[in-house]
Amino acid sequence: APIISIKNLTKTYDNGFHALKGASLDIEDGEIIALLGPNGAGKTTLIGAVCGMVSITSGTVTVGGYDVVEQPRKARSQIGLVPQELALEIFETVWDTVRFTRGLFGLPRDDAHLEKVLRSLSLWDKKDNRINELSGGMKRRVMIAKALSHEPRVLFLDEPTAGVDVALRKDMWEVVRKLRESGVTIILTTHYIEEAEEMADRIGVINKGDVLLVQNTADLMQSF
Ligand code: ADP
Ligand code: ADP
Repeated sequence: APIISIKNLTKTYDNGFHALKGASLDIEDGEIIALLGPNGAGKTTLIGAVCGMVSITSGTVTVGGYDVVEQPRKARSQIGLVPQELALEIFETVWDTVRFTRGLFGLPRDDAHLEKVLRSLSLWDKKDNRINELSGGMKRRVMIAKALSHEPRVLFLDEPTAGVDVALRKDMWEVVRKLRESGVTIILTTHYIEEAEEMADRIGVINKGDVLLVQNTADLMQSF
């Protein structure tokens, strides 16, 4: 069964705007999928609906088998979300930051898991550094570490390279490739096709509130 199943999802905002118009998409366990589309296509709305932050107008979404409307807490516990903006307590250490975030999910302390996450992001030797001592790239890695602290099966990266320079963009590509080894399913949004090609196994093209096409990255790139 797919880890995420989205069926005929619609979202009409209170002002009457139809941001999603019957989008359907199945995401397989362990894959990396890029949601590609221009600004305003509905990518953030789609992520918000899956993560339980945007109310659904109609349709169904399940995450790890849990319906996001019927079992929102269970569905949410399967998900790690890395928002576009950095949101970090800059005077905290890396270690305290990830421990605190794990605690928010009511999980027992498991320093072994957090160590594994920090090591996979090359943050282990920075664990006692305060956030404000880190470079921009390292801060982004801390955001990912936070999102992985409660052992989610799915990781969302919303425009992971928006507004960053070329070096940081390549760094993020590297991070995503490395995370693949951990088996976590990754869903990222982007409006750069090169970025989707670089990181993703499959690409879902989104425009005007619909998933227009979902294709294996290599096959899609052949058609250009
Ligand atoms: P929901 O139906 O999920 O409760 P709302 O329609 O109430 O969502 O809108 C959520 C918030 O987004 C509101 O505070 C609203 O002011 C804000 N908002 C309104 N229009 C836009 C827009 N075009 N882009 C981003 N945010 C908007
Ligand atoms: P993307 O992430 O692909 O740029 P979004 O999901 O942010 O697209 O937005 C899709 C459309 O929905 C845009 O036209 C946006 O202005 C509109 N929109 C987003 N949030 C709201 C809101 N809260 N209220 C009304 N319209 C919104």
